[in-house]
Amino acid sequence: MTDFTYALDADGVATITWDVPGKSMNVMSLAGFSLLSDLIDTALADAAVKGIILTSGKKDFAGGMDLNVIARMKEEGGDQAAKAVFDGVMSMHAILRKIERAGMDPKTLKGGKPIVAALPGTALGIGLELPLSCHRIIAADNPKAKIGLPEIMVGIFPGAGGTTRLVRKMGAMMAAPFLLEGKLSDPKAAKAAGLIDEVVTPDQLLVRAKEWVLAAKEADLVKPWDAKGYKMPGGTPYHAAGFGTFVGASAMVLGKTQGVYPAARALLAAVYEGALVPFDTALKIEARHFTSVILNPSSGAMIRSLFINKEALEKGANRPKVEDQQVSKVGVIGAGMMGAGIAYVSANAGIEVVLIDAAQEAADRGKSYSETLLDKGMKRGKVTADKKAEVLGRITATTDYAALAGCDLIVEAVFEDPKVKAEVTAKVEAAVGPDCIFATNTSTLPITSLAKASARPAQFIGIHFFSPVDKMNLVEIIRGKETGDRAVAKALDYVRQIRKTPIVVNDARFFYANRCIIPYLNEGMRMVAEGVEPALVENAAKLVGMPLGPLQLVDETSIDLGVKIAKATKAAMGDAYPDGAVDEVIFRMADMGRLGRKSNAGFYAYDDKGNRLGLWDGLATEWPVAETQPDLATVQQRLLMAQVLEAVRALDEGVLTDIREGDVGAILGWGFAPWSGGPFGWLDILGAGRAVEICDDLTARFGNRFITPQSLREMASSGGSFYGSKARKAA
Ligand code: NAD
Repeated sequence: MTDFTYALDADGVATITWDVPGKSMNVMSLAGFSLLSDLIDTALADAAVKGIILTSGKKDFAGGMDLNVIARMKEEGGDQAAKAVFDGVMSMHAILRKIERAGMDPKTLKGGKPIVAALPGTALGIGLELPLSCHRIIAADNPKAKIGLPEIMVGIFPGAGGTTRLVRKMGAMMAAPFLLEGKLSDPKAAKAAGLIDEVVTPDQLLVRAKEWVLAAKEADLVKPWDAKGYKMPGGTPYHAAGFGTFVGASAMVLGKTQGVYPAARALLAAVYEGALVPFDTALKIEARHFTSVILNPSSGAMIRSLFINKEALEKGANRPKVEDQQVSKVGVIGAGMMGAGIAYVSANAGIEVVLIDAAQEAADRGKSYSETLLDKGMKRGKVTADKKAEVLGRITATTDYAALAGCDLIVEAVFEDPKVKAEVTAKVEAAVGPDCIFATNTSTLPITSLAKASARPAQFIGIHFFSPVDKMNLVEIIRGKETGDRAVAKALDYVRQIRKTPIVVNDARFFYANRCIIPYLNEGMRMVAEGVEPALVENAAKLVGMPLGPLQLVDETSIDLGVKIAKATKAAMGDAYPDGAVDEVIFRMADMGRLGRKSNAGFYAYDDKGNRLGLWDGLATEWPVAETQPDLATVQQRLLMAQVLEAVRALDEGVLTDIREGDVGAILGWGFAPWSGGPFGWLDILGAGRAVEICDDLTARFGNRFITPQSLREMASSGGSFYGSKARKAA
């Protein structure tokens, strides 16, 4: 079992091929790194070797570092974790630097052997940092390939020299989108940006690599930063142009991250400080900042939720063990906003779609939504005319239920009205075969009660999409009381086909995501009613990492929807209904016709074109601002705890059965402070003991909605945590 193999040809070109056994994508492990290092040593020491090609035996080059390796480095370091991580990273630097120097004399820069990276496809993270240490990067013209450094997306930054090398290669300004936003490019775009050097047809990849190796001159092997008189493109921080870039970048990063993402800040510091010193010192600085990020609990929490657990859920961590349930033909009933989106993502994934509405015109309108999205894709060069025709060809827009024959899955997205849904259920079941699974996209109606309209309740399930369907990656699958395993497996296989992330929850009011987000919105409105400055509410939310303040989110989802939900909840709960103070705000807004973005008036003011201007001045007249304002931390605790306690209750009640789903679902579903890894991740960072103190304090000051759940209190007294060694098993 070797991750890298070595072959030397008659012309003196050694080829090192990366091909991790048993995996579809190469990922770098510590053992892999050390083997690569040995093979490079072999090649450099062998007089018969004129140069080296580094390539992959798979269709792609590499997906990145095995993130578990870094986690393990930290764990195994114990109370010397920082040293262990720093030393580990420095040993990677040493190997990559050895490749870069390739045996040359560091003074004369002579005597090195050319090393070329030949990338057949995707090259991400370490899969690009390694090529960046080679003397030339040639990629096959594979439009599906993605090239880039996505580390920042999971809460770390490129720490194997990628940060330092890219900035020295392209300049801070040009490198910014790749480092700070994790921008990925196809090979042609990567070449245009200067990320790689050359793009060739796939069959010429190794031919051209060999040709380059054999023709390379000594000067071709010297990296600009190792040559005399090197100047950083775009200027260093102590030159006027460079200064402007760094000032701008700091402001932009802080504006976007509000300072809650340690990785973005550390990356900027590594780039800035690294730019002031020689290359090898810059690598050391990069390693120190990288270590600080790895030791920050936020990075571990982000890696866990956004990478490891997200992938585990996508691969079916909670899928019942029944045979493959891939969908071949789906019927989508209701071609409105949601149905149209569901039809598009299904057809785009290669599934045949029958899109039904009550009138042909409505069905056609639903299909034309796909056309609009595909046209947009064509404009951006992402979709070909053939692909557009193919996707549209898969969608049949009709009013005729007979067209549903042969469907193995139905997704119903008609009006949110139990009567209409019941009628549709009966009509569909009369038209489809006995094995067909029926899913409803309801956002508020209990699955178990909707299933009463079905003759086959074991085949009845909730598949809850978020709007807009083509952009939102979470899908909440809801098991009704009688839902069977095959229906769950069907829903999971379908979500996998359309390449989204599923969570599976049990049936309860508002399921999981909406259940947690509503208290957030309500807490925001409650504070407005109390006289808390609305700007304080909104900014407090953003400063703690929520993408939108609660008032803006109410505007986006619409105030009349809020009114509708409030009325329905009140009707269901009767005297126990706790949100009268919120209704006072939301009902008054609705009475004033301020329905949010859709009416160009809500908690915010908008111009005629619908651009959001700022908080509406009229709020101060309706709900005068109190003289004394709460401190920032109190507002933040209220906003976060409102959501988090609901997540804990969902777990206690068995609506959630897996904290991984609770965390991944929260980040993807409603943008819960991603830096925290999700509500359970946040509680672990805080510590159960501190969480209890906060809840007790909030309960005393603001009421029983903050009462500490018994489970959390017990966790605090036993010294446990959600993910730790004494992790509480899911309900
Ligand atoms: P919508 O009003 O845009 O679309 C509903 C469509 O269903 C309309 O085109 C309507 O003509 C059609 N329809 C109504 N009765 C029908 C019938 N008997 N037969 C065939 N078609 C019929 O609504 P929407 O926003 O797309 O919501 C649809 C469902 O999705 C609702 O259950 C809603 O709760 C749920 N949902 C909505 C959102 C959201 O953000 N809008 C998010 C998640 C879930």
